[in-house]
Amino acid sequence: MVADVSILGAGPAGAWAAYSLARRGARVALVDPTHPREKPCGGGVTGRALALVAGALDIAALPACVIRTARFTDASRRDGAVVDLPATGLVVASRTSFDGLLLAAARDAGAEIVAARVTDLVARPGGFLIRTTSGSRTAACIVGADGANSLVRRRLARPFRRDELSVATGYFAHGVTSDEIVVELVDDPPGYLWSFPRPTHLAVGICAPADAGVTAGRLRARVLGWIRDKGLAPGARLEPYSWPIPSLAPRDFDALDVSGPRWCLAGDAAGLVDPITREGIFFALLSGQWAAEALASDDADPWRRYRERVRDEIGSELARAARFKAGFFRPRFTRLMIDALQQSAGVRAVMADLVAGRQSYAQLKWRLARTFEVGLAWRLFASARRRA
Ligand SMILES: Cc1cc2nc3c(=O)[nH]c(=O)nc-3n(C[C@H](O)[C@H](O)[C@H](O)COP(=O)(O)OP(=O)(O)OC[C@H]3O[C@@H](n4cnc5c(N)ncnc54)[C@H](O)[C@@H]3O)c2cc1C
Repeated sequence: MVADVSILGAGPAGAWAAYSLARRGARVALVDPTHPREKPCGGGVTGRALALVAGALDIAALPACVIRTARFTDASRRDGAVVDLPATGLVVASRTSFDGLLLAAARDAGAEIVAARVTDLVARPGGFLIRTTSGSRTAACIVGADGANSLVRRRLARPFRRDELSVATGYFAHGVTSDEIVVELVDDPPGYLWSFPRPTHLAVGICAPADAGVTAGRLRARVLGWIRDKGLAPGARLEPYSWPIPSLAPRDFDALDVSGPRWCLAGDAAGLVDPITREGIFFALLSGQWAAEALASDDADPWRRYRERVRDEIGSELARAARFKAGFFRPRFTRLMIDALQQSAGVRAVMADLVAGRQSYAQLKWRLARTFEVGLAWRLFASARRRA
């Protein structure tokens, strides 16, 4: 077991890794200067993410909107199709609240919380020297959970290329809430506009590849137009946000480089975000937990064990999503999909499971085919083959 671990970044990946390691008896420092803080994010926490942390967090104490329905529209259909979600499918929370609960769990489990920003990291015999805004410290090993702009990634692996990132931008619309998420599928840039309701506000936004040549300002103007056109947030105070999201291509997932001797990356720092749904919180929690499990094991090379598990189990699934992505947002596919959602309870059930994170991409086309939406399944299959 690795006994002396510094975790850089206390978002879901870092806080959950710290909790999981401290519970196993490791000496853990969790370094992050920002809490309590909001993170630019939809704040959608799927059923599978909640299930991971349910044993450690009092989920009932999390101020969150339980989402009852998801509305899917496109440019041509204003009302679109409505999908009922199961009670445990999706909640939307402010990241101040959700990440705050995770941090408290890590602290209660025995992790030392260090309120400082890491400014540099130097490998040296037997571990690392970590320079922070409140002085230097040492650690035998490092978990880099410091998000999309990860310093650990830049120092010990390589920074994300521009084509591996998307820019997500939009507004927090204060004073409005709901129990429905709204998703408008768009093909340029390929993705969707979203409105996610939290207890005191909506998180509304859009996402585009960072190398698409569209500025965050232009994207936000589009979000503003959408908010007005849909009448989503009458009278709300709008607070702008922008933040990068890793958006890896299939070949990047196939070659994930997430660890080396005495260090590993988890969550966004490792690039573990679903390129279609942009779900990242679940993968942050899962990879943080797997990092802890590897470090707490008797394996002679826990770093290799972690890398292989992430590549084989998360990387392969996210690579499938990346292959489907190009076809997923094409107008012909989205038209077909919204028609199918309107007409078929079977397709709505598939979509409800996709939203809750309970539908794997590996099984998606076969499950769609079983709903007799063969056209939809065929297009998905064809787009994946074109990308492979
Ligand atoms: C606009 C937007 C909407 C999104 N919507 C959703 C959604 O609805 N559902 C979902 O599942 N995912 C969503 N995501 C993705 C999700 O936000 C991330 O995948 C998730 O936060 C990753 O968690 P993490 O712990 O890896 O990193 P983060 O949550 O980014 O946490 C990283 C932490 O590292 C700290 N840090 C950074 N640098 C340093 C440093 N030098 N020293 C010390 N600490 C440092 C930061 O302060 C931060 O607290 C969205 C992302 C964006 C941008």
